[in-house]
Amino acid sequence: MKIFLTGGAGYIGSVTTECLLNEGHEVTVFDNLEQGHRAAIDPRATFLQGDLRERDEVREAMLSAQPDAVMHFAAYALVGESMQDPMKYFRNNVTGGIHLVEAMLAADVKRFIFSSTCATYGFPDQVPMTEELLQRPVNPYGESKLMFEKVLLWAQSQCGLQPVFLRYFNACGATATFGEDHDPESHLIPLVLFVAQGKRDHIKIFGDDYNTPDGTCIRDYIHIVDLAQAHILAVTSDKTGAFNLGNGSGYSVKEVIDVARKVTGHPIPAEVAPRRPGDPDRLVASAQKARDVLGWQPQFPDLETIVAHAWEWHQRHPQGYAE
Ligand code: UDP
Repeated sequence: MKIFLTGGAGYIGSVTTECLLNEGHEVTVFDNLEQGHRAAIDPRATFLQGDLRERDEVREAMLSAQPDAVMHFAAYALVGESMQDPMKYFRNNVTGGIHLVEAMLAADVKRFIFSSTCATYGFPDQVPMTEELLQRPVNPYGESKLMFEKVLLWAQSQCGLQPVFLRYFNACGATATFGEDHDPESHLIPLVLFVAQGKRDHIKIFGDDYNTPDGTCIRDYIHIVDLAQAHILAVTSDKTGAFNLGNGSGYSVKEVIDVARKVTGHPIPAEVAPRRPGDPDRLVASAQKARDVLGWQPQFPDLETIVAHAWEWHQRHPQGYAE
């Protein structure tokens, strides 16, 4: 298939581009390089630099690419920043997305795979979390993703779009070539590995008084290659609707740090710090629907493998993509 992929210079987009190309698909990457890295775009892809907020740029790119389907990764994704500057999130994640849908309709492209998030659920009523849970986001980031899901539902009923919402839990790991390089970095696994690399003295544990066995937050860590595979299954199917993507097993912050100590052989000093606002005790997916309907089977559910892959990438790229 010919895929138009926004955000292909970012973490999840770069790995999905690589996996699509490995399976013989053609990829056009559309990215503004504001946060992504030129070096993260697979050289086998066609690259069009442009900004989703510029309606004409998106339309022109879509008409020139004439794809069979769109995968939409490009977005702002920092919860804390979204609380400080909500309009920035709505402008890019909602308005930018609308421009993308308009461009698709102009080019008669119908299949749309959207990077959504478990943050659309807010504080869940039940764990493991199924797709039927009420969506009540607690920050503008999650709200912007939910708003765009709703835009896509109307585009489905009124304009014939075929949207799939993939609601990710905690993406992590790396391939041999592409990995995680955010600036600033805020995610647990890369920050823990920065300590092992000597770039930081210690890792801060944000709260140890949560309602969990060891008091630290539990999250569902999912390998980036497994996420990429779910996108490929979704785009090549005729299914629409929402799918949660996680392993269904949660790990606490302390467990993640222990696994990283084992993988790196570094003591990784940790200090307990205050809670980070907006962190639920436990976010764990039920991905049964993705397994049943898409035939998805994560290949790397084991946290040690996930951390080992991330560690290999960080060792090979001590300055991230900056080298
Ligand atoms: N976390 C932490 N210290 C850090 C970064 C994250 O204790 O330096 C915790 C965070 O509070 C959450 C978990 O690690 O419970 C995963 O956070 P991350 O930012 O990686 O992903 P999120 O779950 O926010 O998407």
